[in-house]
Amino acid sequence: MFGYPAFRPPQQEIITTLLRGEDALVIMPTGGGKSLCYQIPGLLREGCAIVVSPLIALMQDQVEALQQLGVRAAYLNSSLAPEEARSIEQDWLDDRLDLLYVAPERLLQPRMLALLDQMTPALFAIDEAHCVSQWGHDFREDYLQLSALHERYPQVPRIALTATADARTRQEIAERLNLTTARHFLVSFDRPNICYRIALKDNPRGQLLRFLQNEHRHDAGIVYCLSRKRVDETARWLVDQGFKALPYHAGLPADTRADHQRRFLREDGIIIVATIAFGMGIDKPDVRFVAHLDLPKTVEAYYQETGRAGRDGLPANAWLVYGLQDVITLRQMLDQSQGSEIYKREEQHRLNAMLGLCEVTSCRRQALLAYFDEPLEKPCGNCDSCLNPVATWDGTEAAQMALSAVYRTGQRFGVNHLIDVLRGSENDKIFQNDHHQLPTFGVGKGLDTRQWKSVFRQLVARGLLSVDMTRFGALCLQEPARAVLRGEVEVLLRQDPKGSSARRTTKNV
Ligand code: ADP
Ligand code: ZN
Repeated sequence: MFGYPAFRPPQQEIITTLLRGEDALVIMPTGGGKSLCYQIPGLLREGCAIVVSPLIALMQDQVEALQQLGVRAAYLNSSLAPEEARSIEQDWLDDRLDLLYVAPERLLQPRMLALLDQMTPALFAIDEAHCVSQWGHDFREDYLQLSALHERYPQVPRIALTATADARTRQEIAERLNLTTARHFLVSFDRPNICYRIALKDNPRGQLLRFLQNEHRHDAGIVYCLSRKRVDETARWLVDQGFKALPYHAGLPADTRADHQRRFLREDGIIIVATIAFGMGIDKPDVRFVAHLDLPKTVEAYYQETGRAGRDGLPANAWLVYGLQDVITLRQMLDQSQGSEIYKREEQHRLNAMLGLCEVTSCRRQALLAYFDEPLEKPCGNCDSCLNPVATWDGTEAAQMALSAVYRTGQRFGVNHLIDVLRGSENDKIFQNDHHQLPTFGVGKGLDTRQWKSVFRQLVARGLLSVDMTRFGALCLQEPARAVLRGEVEVLLRQDPKGSSARRTTKNV
């Protein structure tokens, strides 16, 4: 039916668990193949399987894909007109459905429960089960009510699935969904064949070109950029450099997008240059690299996007360049977004975790897996930190100088001016603000501009400083800076590899 030659590791066990009528809790990374785990039991067991899914768009995509395979699937959500919904309910009552996708708020309506009472379901699948977690990002009130399913239909097996793995969330899912006797299936997030590499931005196009020419001259891959404009420019530029590159973003006409996606899947050696709009449901096994020219907003996004490389298990590269300007841009986007203060604070934490991953001096894979609460005992040997160990230096004194420059200038200035203060530059802005009178003026001559930029970048990445976008990128002290200023903690900094960035403008910091 699905056309796959074999199951992926725990799929078969999960399926047989459900076929025996037992419950399952599945933690599997995105792209791991969760849907098959309930789709097959849904087909095999008597009755129609009910799949609870919070995302209307994904529901529609899945159902359409299933229908094309000849599976009798349908969905019920608020996008349907009442008569459409009624006709689907009738199909269900007449036993013409094997899989029915339902939005959570709909499932618990009296009308739906009355139908469920008549039609014993094959199973309940609860997708995106982390939505029950009240501490999580995607909390959905309706998900809390889903434990009622078990009380009402104790004989129907349930499967809860999520890609959010941390131990606390896992525990919460089991408790709140009343899945106490469920078998747990934890699939590792590790993708051992992907080599993680993160470098400082220093003429990003030149860096990308070198990477592609040296390692991926004829390979298929994806280059992610933050904006549509950058996608278009980069694709055009790669074509000029002799690569088969195609742009992909939500601003292109639907048929162009479909055409580029099709060519990427069918032809060899196509590079797709894309915004994050590209990737959902892309299953091309031989993507040899994923490159990021801009910093992803979260570790989850980074993991998902890089995870599109090397699905065939052969060596693949996840390559990223970033700089302080990325942080400032993302921060700006966040500040201008519509979300609540709580949402923005959460997003800021998530961005900081991504920065932390960029700045680690130890194994990247250990850091990445630790983020998903998965221990990896030894350094992996297949990331840039492992392959080319990073030199570190005692940056305590430099950090103190930088932080006190921020403090003494009133937390109102951006990185370039602060470096001018530290290095004792005599320019108009310094004199206008009387900054040549400060005790910190000129104390930092021992480091050059590039080294100071590195110090500031790392202080931001570690949450000692924050960037205030309402004041044009002014750096402000954060609580942990206090201990550094008091001399209570040491600051170990990474030694940035020597590049040509000293000559460059802040654009490439
Ligand atoms: P998830 O929900 O875990 O993100 P999906 O269920 O969407 O993952 O599956 C991810 C991709 O893997 C899909 O494109 C699917 O076709 C493919 N897939 C799932 N199971 C198998 C399998 N046993 N063999 C090959 N491909 C599979
Ligand atoms: Zn490593």
